This record gives sequence, C-alpha cells and structure tokens, in this order.
Amino acid sequence: MKIEHIGIAVADMELAIKTYEQLLQTPCYKKEQVASEGVETAFFQLADSKIELLEAMHEESPIAKFILKKGEGIHHIAFEVEDIIAEMKRLSALGYQILNEVPKKGADNKLVCFLHPKSAHGVLVELCQEIK
Ligand code: ZN
Repeated sequence: MKIEHIGIAVADMELAIKTYEQLLQTPCYKKEQVASEGVETAFFQLADSKIELLEAMHEESPIAKFILKKGEGIHHIAFEVEDIIAEMKRLSALGYQILNEVPKKGADNKLVCFLHPKSAHGVLVELCQEIK
C-alpha cells in the first residue's frame, strides 16, 4: 500500500487548477468526469502519488453535499491496493464499514471502494486498484 492520491473538494475547478498548478509547479495532466458520482476530477502527478481535485457536477453530488457541510478541503485519502476484493473482505471482517459492496469504476482507470469516515477516525478512505 501507498498513498495513491489525496482528494480535495473544490468549489471552482478552473480556479483550483490554476492554484495547484502554481503550487505544485506541474500541469494538470488529466480531467475526467465520473458521472456515477456526479464529479468532475482533475489530476496532478507528484513523485509517487497524486492530487485529485473534485468538483460537483450537480447538487446531488456527494461533493456538493460535502462542500455545503464542511466547505472546501481534503475530502479523502486513497490507498493503492493489489487486490481490492481481498482488502474489502479483510476490512469488512474486522468491522470496518464499507460504503459500496462491490468495487466501482472510479476516475483514472481505477476500481475503487470507500470506507466510512467513522471507521477511520474521521477520514474518508478510498481503496483503489489499477485496472489492468
Ligand atoms: Zn479519489
């Protein structure tokens, strides 16, 4: 496992991309919509991990609800796993609350699942596995 990326909820994607391009001194390499989640994403590559900016596409999006409740900020931390099904089984058996029963297709060619923040001391955790 490594930290694959950190997801940041933003209110204005164009503005946020400019901010992070300046901050990280690297261009956004990919923008992608995940319609099932109602989010537009933008990615920045760092040495061994990424920053994922998330903007709501509509009011029903979890990102819209997050921003309404907490404002902009860190939304989730994503850990890369080799075998997402095995990890989901392992964590579920240990009592972690898994938010989606089956892995779903996330942005950036990944299978993903989320753990409830209550299971991780207030942090929304994403497990992700590269689709080969
Ligand atoms: Zn993510």
